[in-house]
Amino acid sequence: MPRLVMKFGGTSVADVQRIRNVAAHVKREIDAGAEVAVVVSAMAGVTNELVGWCKEAGSQFDTAEYDAVVASGELVTAGLLALVLKDIGLKARSWQGWQIPLLTDDVHGSARIAAIDGTRLIQGFKADEVAVIAGFQGVHKATDRVTTLGRGGSDTSAVALAAAISADRCDIYTDVDGVYTSDPRIVPKARRLDKVSFEEMLEMASLGAKVLQVRSVEVAMVNKVRLHVRSSFDDPARPRPGTLICDEEEIMEQEVVTGIAFSRDEAQITLREVADKPGVAAAIFMPLAEANINVDMIIQVVSDDTTTTDITFTVPAAEYARAMAILEALRAKIGYAKLHGAQDVVKISAIGVGMRSHSGVAARAFRALAEKGVNIRAITTSEIKFSMLIDEVYTELAVRTLHTLYGLDAKG
Ligand code: ASP
Ligand code: MG
Repeated sequence: MPRLVMKFGGTSVADVQRIRNVAAHVKREIDAGAEVAVVVSAMAGVTNELVGWCKEAGSQFDTAEYDAVVASGELVTAGLLALVLKDIGLKARSWQGWQIPLLTDDVHGSARIAAIDGTRLIQGFKADEVAVIAGFQGVHKATDRVTTLGRGGSDTSAVALAAAISADRCDIYTDVDGVYTSDPRIVPKARRLDKVSFEEMLEMASLGAKVLQVRSVEVAMVNKVRLHVRSSFDDPARPRPGTLICDEEEIMEQEVVTGIAFSRDEAQITLREVADKPGVAAAIFMPLAEANINVDMIIQVVSDDTTTTDITFTVPAAEYARAMAILEALRAKIGYAKLHGAQDVVKISAIGVGMRSHSGVAARAFRALAEKGVNIRAITTSEIKFSMLIDEVYTELAVRTLHTLYGLDAKG
């Protein structure tokens, strides 16, 4: 008997009508003979509202109480779906994180899963009962407090549960029908991918393709949980296959580039005429690290006079002002001539495991962008991706150019 985890996000459970539609998807799988655990998010917009109330309520912000509040959204959906499932004649019960139990560490607001005991869920399957699980939440055993897994965390709940109960599949239902070669709002010729490897998906997720929480992909990769991203808006009687996220070996025909991602959430900082001597990079980046500012691309220019150099790097747009203030305050200590910043930049990335075995992949992009007159401010590369920082006004042009260049455009 196949065992399945089905996860439904906020837009898929936005109201009771949508929840009835979810129940129809569940019934289809039950009728086909599967044992099913369903993981649900809060109804669309509910978590944001709960977060807003927490901010309004507490000047003494307490993350444990924050978790107690924001975890409540999923409880409502789990109960409602169990009710609806019973209404259409299935056996079902709702599960809160602590009841399973799904144990986590005590980092409130972004807890990590420590262990899941699937015994009781499996007992329920033996009694033909659908398990309806509140995603996003767990419990820290020693303190006996409810925790949450970070925004978008019900994806991770679903994947970790699939691993814990040795599910044959984990289907992530969302409001799109799969993972695309790029954002269809920017690239009209973007197409749905049949298969993506875990590693590529990890890069795409962290580069701003917002279909899955990054951590859920990590958990899937480590535990080899095959994920299907598919649409809950499909007719429950005739769902489309969606995108399979799986091991690289399962993908026979590998394109060199699988997807083009972009992130507008970047800002560039440049320090001019920094002393070219040991310890300077540390003097710049240690204070930023201590302030929890995540630095991404880093470029140090090789100096010709060997006494000074220029250093450019990027930070998340939201941290730009803080980073600039820190560097300004440290001007004397670091010793630089000028501090520049730019916020109207975008990071464009091409991702594909095929890059490991092909040379010149990035070079073709540089030439194609040059031909369109797009200047590249910074470049970084890794084994299966390369990223370029460019002026934000060229986002669409650059993304579309690369999408065509690597043969990703939909036919016809
Ligand atoms: N409801 C939570 C959130 O909005 C968790 C999730 O939807 O995955 O972040
Ligand atoms: Mg989500």
